[in-house]
Amino acid sequence: MRRFDPEQAMVETRRVFGEHGGVVPSIERSSTFSVLEPGTMPEIFAGEKNPEMGGCFLYSRHFNPTVNVLSRYLSAMEGTEAGICTATGMGAITVTILQICKLGSHLVSSNTIYGGTHAFIKEVLPEMGIESTFVDPTDLGAVEAAIRPETKMIYVETMGNPKLNIADLPALSKLAREHDVKLVVDNTFTPVMISAKELGADVVLYSLTKFINGASDLMGGAVLADKNFIFELMDLHKGRAMLLGPAMDSRVAFDIAQRLPLLPLRMREHSRRTLAIAEAMAEMGVAISYPGLKSHPQHELISSLVNESYGYGGLLTVDCQTLKKAEHLMSVLQNQEKFGIIAVSLGYYDTLLSCPGSSTSSEISEDEQRKMGLSPGLVRVSIGLSGSLSVRIEQMKRALIEVGLAE
Ligand code: PLP
Repeated sequence: MRRFDPEQAMVETRRVFGEHGGVVPSIERSSTFSVLEPGTMPEIFAGEKNPEMGGCFLYSRHFNPTVNVLSRYLSAMEGTEAGICTATGMGAITVTILQICKLGSHLVSSNTIYGGTHAFIKEVLPEMGIESTFVDPTDLGAVEAAIRPETKMIYVETMGNPKLNIADLPALSKLAREHDVKLVVDNTFTPVMISAKELGADVVLYSLTKFINGASDLMGGAVLADKNFIFELMDLHKGRAMLLGPAMDSRVAFDIAQRLPLLPLRMREHSRRTLAIAEAMAEMGVAISYPGLKSHPQHELISSLVNESYGYGGLLTVDCQTLKKAEHLMSVLQNQEKFGIIAVSLGYYDTLLSCPGSSTSSEISEDEQRKMGLSPGLVRVSIGLSGSLSVRIEQMKRALIEVGLAE
């Protein structure tokens, strides 16, 4: 039996019609909003009124009607009470951390997370008097041992970037409750596939730039949580989202909202193709990691977390051991086989290839990369939706043979 059905939950969200009854929402481009009576303005600033409480939009860095439509669809997808959208994923991550952690706070973070988040936690937070401990998220003992009296949050990615290791969200949530800390989960790699809030996350974060948008043409982020936390973030006098100002533009919100209904279909197809390619690579004896393969160390765990029918996601990695070999493989895949494009990011409809050790995780020192088991020759592949699957498999097989990773 399914725990939660994100696709159905999105469909059942109140549909927003356009101003003239259009089947799509209107784009509200105003930066500022009129109030009917001057006395309403102080009520808005006192936090007594906002779009969710007694109406009243104020200013688009606070709440915007079109951005709210996207936030509402995303919070329905995740099963949270509320949400806000931001200009980028980093905007969502940084305001959330700064809302929960203040001077003197400590946080426990997974050591396998996106390099930008890692750099923010490691380099920027100490300058604000916020300490952190990085741990292997799959080692629950290490997570618990790192918790201190001043710890405010456990931060993980459901599927870690770039190692594709899986966080045991129900177990981490139990730990978080026992120690009265918040479990904050970046679910960017596994939207609709894994419902992080249903599995115990207090705050769910997304980079919408990836699978949720799906076309690599727009940037965005989201914070999905209970109403109290969202209102705290948007508090006009103290809210980190309001005051640091990573607001999403209404035109971007409209475009992403239009692509959201196709997300479940896209995720299923990403997963179907990635599994087929991963199986073909595994048969050739290549050092491949894909959570959908039984050889993945957390295959059983992820099988217990995924929502039925979405598969195991659109990312796989192959360890080529050395950077030179990784570059050779990416070059053959891009320039000879036309299998994919060498570019950072993921979740695009075309295949993207990158070598995280020297790109998106290069903020992490070589020593730490070694400790977290990140090989310099690791190639991360975000499998796209384009082309014939059988041709794609043949292209990959030829490339692996050409660079000497298989015979
Ligand atoms: N979270 C994860 C897992 C990511 O991979 C990335 C970017 O690669 C981000 C967050 C940051 O998102 P954005 O680039 O939209 O700021």
